[in-house]
Amino acid sequence: MADFTLDEDQRQIQDMTRKFAAKELRPIARNCDEEAQFPAELLNKVWELGFCANAIPEKYGGYELGRSAVTTAIMVEELAWGDVSLTLGALSPLLMMIPILEFGTEEQKEEWLPKLCGEQFFPVTAALMEPRITFDPMDLRTIAQTKGDEIVLNGVKCMAPMADQAEHILVYASAAEGAGPGSVKAIIVDKGTPGLKIGEREKNLGLNPLPLFRVTFEDCVVPKSRLVGGDRGIDYMRLTNLSRSVLGAMAVGVARASYEYALDYAKERYAFGEPIASRQSIAFMLAESAMEVDGMRMLAWRAAWRLDRNEDATRDAALARMYCAEQTMKVVDYGVQILGGHGYIREHPVEMWFRNGRGFSTMEGLAIG
Ligand SMILES: Cc1cc2nc3c(=O)[nH]c(=O)nc-3n(C[C@H](O)[C@H](O)[C@H](O)COP(=O)(O)OP(=O)(O)OC[C@H]3O[C@@H](n4cnc5c(N)ncnc54)[C@H](O)[C@@H]3O)c2cc1C
Repeated sequence: MADFTLDEDQRQIQDMTRKFAAKELRPIARNCDEEAQFPAELLNKVWELGFCANAIPEKYGGYELGRSAVTTAIMVEELAWGDVSLTLGALSPLLMMIPILEFGTEEQKEEWLPKLCGEQFFPVTAALMEPRITFDPMDLRTIAQTKGDEIVLNGVKCMAPMADQAEHILVYASAAEGAGPGSVKAIIVDKGTPGLKIGEREKNLGLNPLPLFRVTFEDCVVPKSRLVGGDRGIDYMRLTNLSRSVLGAMAVGVARASYEYALDYAKERYAFGEPIASRQSIAFMLAESAMEVDGMRMLAWRAAWRLDRNEDATRDAALARMYCAEQTMKVVDYGVQILGGHGYIREHPVEMWFRNGRGFSTMEGLAIG
């Protein structure tokens, strides 16, 4: 049976990331949103928290402190509470680090892992999502054909975070259209490879500071040595499940931010001689928000717990992803409602969390667990 009592290390990690988010992310979040800017100096600040280095074995230059999806869920909830756009951008190197760590060949680990635990932020990312309304991560339309010692990539990806500055992009592609998730490969493509085109920055409803890009591959040729895991390949479902548990945990962070803000506001806002928190219609919204935040967290942690046990987490991760995406919207909507007209204006952050929270039903495949 799952036991989510945090151990001493996890409590310390939670405390450290909570303080970091309160000091480094929350104070700049509104301005970054208004200006749609990602502050470059933040990348190294988050890098120093050691998300990559802690997980990488000593022989590749890391600290080898072990890796746990539950602990990651705890950390990303705190960071996303500070700001989810900045969190997603700063953690983008994990999108390449995790697949290589879990499935890379020895040569690939020796080549890439030392770079992923160096002193400076290493700008790499991944491209999974595709720009069509029927997008399904189990049915990718970006195709990787093997021709001798080379792989030829064709297709279009969207919402690739920080792709404009990435030195390498990990591209998920199918062996053939309709070949299913078992055929999905992860291929490392270098910046500047002929046939790789980074499009315009995407313009979205929320996540404004996070630079997201459309990426096109037209007969883009890479050596077969860039196929993560070589002929053995990757366990694509495990990476999808890691992503879903982590995105669920980030959604908890956004929902919790809105709930806590609305709770404080409702206790201080007097209307008709009483704090609005004592009115039943507001109290019910606050109580439901508290229930949903805890429920979302339990589902995200349960999926992460199963992943830590190397069990099939497909069901748990899918439930976590769906539930967290839906209930985040309920909680952030209540956040706006509880503030009344003040919730609709940009003076308060609830409208920003509302816009950011909406992204969780769209985002997929940011495997950073
Ligand atoms: C798009 C928009 C346009 C607007 N345009 C105008 C305009 O042109 N002119 C203008 O004067 N104003 C305008 N307003 C302001 C609007 O009239 C107020 O926002 C509204 O009256 C609510 O007041 P408030 O924002 O102070 O919220 P509050 O009164 O603080 O309410 C906050 C929350 O508490 C709840 N609540 C408050 N009192 C009670 C109670 N007794 N029992 C139960 N629940 C309670 C409310 O339902 C709400 O959910 C606009 C607002 C918006 C969002």
